[in-house]
Formats: sequence, C-alpha cells, structure tokens
Amino acid sequence: MKSTMRKQIAAANWKMNLTYQQGEKLLDEIFHARISLAPHQQVIFAVPFPYLIMAKSEVADETGYNIAAQNCNEKQSGAYTGEVSAEMLKSIGIKYCIVGHSERREYYLETNKMLADKVNICLQNNITPIFCCGEALSIREKNQQNEFVQQQLEESLFHLPEENLRQVIIAYEPIWAIGTGRTASTQQAQEMHQYIRSILAGKYGQEVADQVSVLYGGSVKAGNAAEIFSCPDVDGGLVGGASLVAQDFIQIIKALKQ
Ligand code: PEP
Repeated sequence: MKSTMRKQIAAANWKMNLTYQQGEKLLDEIFHARISLAPHQQVIFAVPFPYLIMAKSEVADETGYNIAAQNCNEKQSGAYTGEVSAEMLKSIGIKYCIVGHSERREYYLETNKMLADKVNICLQNNITPIFCCGEALSIREKNQQNEFVQQQLEESLFHLPEENLRQVIIAYEPIWAIGTGRTASTQQAQEMHQYIRSILAGKYGQEVADQVSVLYGGSVKAGNAAEIFSCPDVDGGLVGGASLVAQDFIQIIKALKQ
C-alpha cells in the first residue's frame, strides 16, 4: 500500500508556551495563509488546556484542521486536583490528545502501564491518542533503540483490539532530538518508522500496519521537514519549537506528502 493512503499529519505541540493572545494571533496568521489540505492531509494543534475552546472555534471552518489536548488523566473522574479527564475533553468536542510525550514520562513519571490506561480512557471517549514513543541518547548509543521502542508499544498499545489500534496515531520522537536542534537523519527516521510498522504488522497484520500514521518528532524545522516527511514510512511530524512561529509551521504544513 502506498504511504499516501495514510493520513499525513502536521501536529503542533505548543507545550507550556504562548499567552492566550499570542496563541490566537498565531492561529490567525497560519489560517491567513489559506493552505488547503488534501483529503489525506491533516493539521492538529495541541494547545494548552485553557485555550482549547478558543482554538476549537478558530478551526471550526477550516477543513482538515483539528485541536488536541497535550495530556489527560488516566482516571475517569474524582479527587485529582488540577487534573483534566478525557470525558471533560470530550464534553468540549476535543478529538485528539497527546499521550506519553517524553517530557511527561520524564518530569511526571508516566509509565508504560499508566499510558496504557490513558490510551484506553481516550478511546473510550472517542479521542484519538497521539501516542509518543522514543529512546534516550544512552539507549541509541548502545544500539538498543528498537527493543526499547518495541517495549513501549507492547506495554501501552498492544493490549488494544485491532479496531482500536487503527484509531491510534503514533509519534516516534527520539528524546535526543527533541528541542536540541539535532534531528535524526532520514535514514535513522526511516529505519525506526519501518521497524515500528513491522512490529505493528507482526501483531495486527500488514493491512492494519499500513493504515496507522507514524509521525516523526524531534527538531523538525521549516528547512528539514520536506526531507524527513519524504521517507516512505514517515507520515508527517509532531513539531514543538517550530510550531510556535507562523511562517515556519506554514512551511512544515506545506511539506506534507502530497
Ligand atoms: C516535541 O515537543 O514533540 C518536539 C518534537 O519538539 P521540537 O520540535 O522542539 O524538538
């Protein structure tokens, strides 16, 4: 199956950046560019919680543009002060949520098991998880990245039945490339994306593996996006820093496979 059959996605991760007004302005500038998306292309903005409703209304008339939360809690509801549930996200019409970003794994001690619960609660609420995986530099230096990423997928996703796995977006984000300006080479990205697809195929069959979008994340910029996205198994990117600059993110959207 040709990779263009899969959704090609440019996902912006604003993290804990921008004021409300700056966020609104950034979205306005991006929409001002009037980039029309092909049916297989999609743009997702993962914005801070307080901006979700504003961002939802900004994308309302824009075909192919969507909003994501950057995280949600793994529990249904209850006494978890400061947390946001998947049901709350659903109740304001949010359809995507980043799950297991490496910053949350590192600073908030999110484990593969906890992330399996987050994936489940998202899917129960019709929210597509954008599931992040990826190895630290020390693991890459020992050439153990394949086993490491495989374990992340097995422990957080492989309990899912096929119909649910099909709904997941995977983002491969080598930690050594996030926010460092150091990007994986196209060969490193393609090798890992192909490997991820092969383990998906081993568990769920080739037809399912060929449908799951696998994004690359790690210092994607306006200048390198087209080259990275051209890899056959790379279906777009999850973008941090460069998604905060309208002209850069516009170029990244335009770099999606046609
Ligand atoms: C990210 O936060 O997911 C990310 C890839 O960040 P950056 O693009 O800044 O490396």
